[in-house]
Amino acid sequence: MKSSPVLEPGIRGAGHLVFILGHPVGHSLSPLMHNAAFRALQMSWVYSPLDVAKDQVQNAVEVLRSSNVEGANVTIPHKEEVMPFLDHVPKESAWLGSVNTIYRRNGKLCGTSTDGEGFLRSLGLWRRKLRGSQGLLIGAGGAAKAVGEALAGSGIKGLFIANRSFGRALNLTRLLLKRHPGLKVGVGSLKEGERLLNQCDWVVQSTSLGLKAGDSAPISLKSARRAILAVDLVYHRPTAFLQEARRIHLPNLDGLGMLLHQGALAFEYWTGRKAPLAVMRRVLLRRLSSV
Ligand code: NDP
Repeated sequence: MKSSPVLEPGIRGAGHLVFILGHPVGHSLSPLMHNAAFRALQMSWVYSPLDVAKDQVQNAVEVLRSSNVEGANVTIPHKEEVMPFLDHVPKESAWLGSVNTIYRRNGKLCGTSTDGEGFLRSLGLWRRKLRGSQGLLIGAGGAAKAVGEALAGSGIKGLFIANRSFGRALNLTRLLLKRHPGLKVGVGSLKEGERLLNQCDWVVQSTSLGLKAGDSAPISLKSARRAILAVDLVYHRPTAFLQEARRIHLPNLDGLGMLLHQGALAFEYWTGRKAPLAVMRRVLLRRLSSV
């Protein structure tokens, strides 16, 4: 028999609930960010982590059907597994093959991904420069897929996908070309990507290198001959990639903005209210500067 995800007793009695489903999930910064947002807007909502083992995903989705649950975030490793148990997933998210946000519409549980748009919003004014640009996407995992699709949908001219394993990069290339037939897409090793830096307007580091202290950078940035934008999706610390970008004075962004904006978009799906970005950014920065 399948066991059910365990809810803390205090949580069962709370007013409006939002969960984050993952395994492990204790390290997530989302509860901090969203609970600060609810407090700032004086909403009696609670955002709580729900540690869900692989064989409990379906049960966890049943928990989300309780009338006081407004929605959820989904994180590693359940972003794909959760999809068959939802009532509706829009075409674009179905194409991505993963969701990070579950929300209710007309009594139905719907899934979407806010990662791509969250990434684009995190670029601020740089977003306007994407049309007609070309660049390097390092990595070919779930985050790279969302970011690659967001970039392709923003009118870029082309991108080169560089990844440790060629097969995964090739899969992502084929998927992107299917949806964006006019896009120029190259694919190759990390070294090949590094050699193309001098033709790039931007470079996005979307591998998990940098999650652990002491991780090396996937490529060196020294052949970037001009001031290209360097973005690292990792937000936990200044990674070796980001440190080099700063050392050689490239404009650069870490992953905090994407974390913030994907969260703000999810917040808006659940509540229908504008997310208090400044409050959310402040608590994230405070937490990250204390570790
Ligand atoms: P995945 O596990 O789906 O993909 C991991 C990627 O990293 C793959 O391309 C993998 O290459 C590569 N990789 C892993 N280890 C190494 C290594 N030692 N050397 C070279 N490449 C390596 O993870 P995600 O795509 O979900 O996440 C990737 C990163 O993005 C994480 O650091 C995550 O924290 C961050 N992220 C940030 C978000 C934000 O809001 N800022 C949102 C989502 C993710 P291969 O295919 O060869 O295995």
